[in-house]
Amino acid sequence: MAEERKKPAVGLQPENEVDWSDYRGILVVVEQRDSVAKKVSWQLLGESKRMADKLQAPLMALVIGHHVEQLAHEAVYYGADKVFYCDSEELKDYRTRPYSKLCLHVIRQYKPEIVLFGATYTGRDLAGAIATHLPTGLTADCTQLDVNEERLLMASRPAFSEKMLATILCKQFKPQMATARSGVFQALQRDETRTGEIITVDPQMPENEIATQVLEFIESTQGVNLEDAEVIVSGGRGLGGPAGFKVLQELADALGGVVGASRPAFEAGWISHDHQVGQTGSTVRPKLYIACGISGAVQHTVGMQHSDYIVAINKDPEAPIFKIANYGIVGDLFEVVPALAKAMKSRKKGNPQGVGAVIGDAVAAAQSVHN
Ligand SMILES: Cc1cc2nc3c(=O)[nH]c(=O)nc-3n(C[C@H](O)[C@H](O)[C@H](O)COP(=O)(O)OP(=O)(O)OC[C@H]3O[C@@H](n4cnc5c(N)ncnc54)[C@H](O)[C@@H]3O)c2cc1C
Repeated sequence: MAEERKKPAVGLQPENEVDWSDYRGILVVVEQRDSVAKKVSWQLLGESKRMADKLQAPLMALVIGHHVEQLAHEAVYYGADKVFYCDSEELKDYRTRPYSKLCLHVIRQYKPEIVLFGATYTGRDLAGAIATHLPTGLTADCTQLDVNEERLLMASRPAFSEKMLATILCKQFKPQMATARSGVFQALQRDETRTGEIITVDPQMPENEIATQVLEFIESTQGVNLEDAEVIVSGGRGLGGPAGFKVLQELADALGGVVGASRPAFEAGWISHDHQVGQTGSTVRPKLYIACGISGAVQHTVGMQHSDYIVAINKDPEAPIFKIANYGIVGDLFEVVPALAKAMKSRKKGNPQGVGAVIGDAVAAAQSVHN
């Protein structure tokens, strides 16, 4: 009996009994919906390119869906050396079983040493399903990724109620797997001159073996998509109540953007959690972020500091948010924001389309309000 207990569980042989040396390279599982890729997929390719160069190993992508051939090419333009690609009608909509079976097939056949997924609802479901079939672990919701000289993935994620960052290593098994948050990493510049190998993979499950069916998608009429927003107008405790968000919404509408929030604004019940930006909310990378009545605590700025252009409006000239803002307005947001919205609306008439022009106009309007 004692002899029995010493034996490892099936498939979990200790490191010295298994040769993992044929596992090489990083595989990013590209997530798409209706043939449109999630930004996090390209961001993960960008970060993985840096790690793959360090490992001197190939960067691979897996594209699954229907009518997604263009995404296989896009994956190359965003950094992949090799793309595994499966296009089939039964894979049009995400379903756990056929997608996980296909991923497992690719992982077992092509043996990547690292596999990464976006920490989206789909990515978390898929990565978890795959991890249960492989003799390996999964680090969820990472905000930092790196590799060390022993080729180990250093997957870091907030821990202990987000008070510290824990780095997790998977020393004994391959592949090393992680999901990573959207908005944290930077995608490479899309480059159509890049070339790569595209390998077609057959689906691993016919429709008659798939137990679930997708009958229809009903788009939520509530909620906000901060991840894809190019302009975010965010409000904090300085709004003083839920009515303040109506003022921000007007400016967001004038800029073609959406409304974000700090945690206290959400905790006070002024707005729903999907609007929250920061360590325990969304990490965003819009082209323009306007912070209104937000002090600039690190738990907030960690979620928006990589925005291309930051405008801060705060009545306290010492507020830390001004340290990371490209443009700051010291004043009462209830005067500044409506004036900005009004200025934007009047400038919009002769305004050429495009976010660049909108940002230029917003900053010019901010300057005119400020003077
Ligand atoms: C584990 C942990 C996780 C956290 N996660 C997050 C997170 O994800 N996101 C997040 O935002 N916070 C998070 N926090 C909270 C964070 O520490 C700060 O408390 C929070 O960001 C502060 O929010 P705020 O800037 O809206 O409020 P405050 O810090 O109270 O700032 C309000 C600002 O409004 C200004 N103001 C007031 N009235 C006006 C006016 N009329 N016009 C202009 N300015 C005005 C004030 O000068 C002040 O600077 C977290 C904290 C912890 C401990």
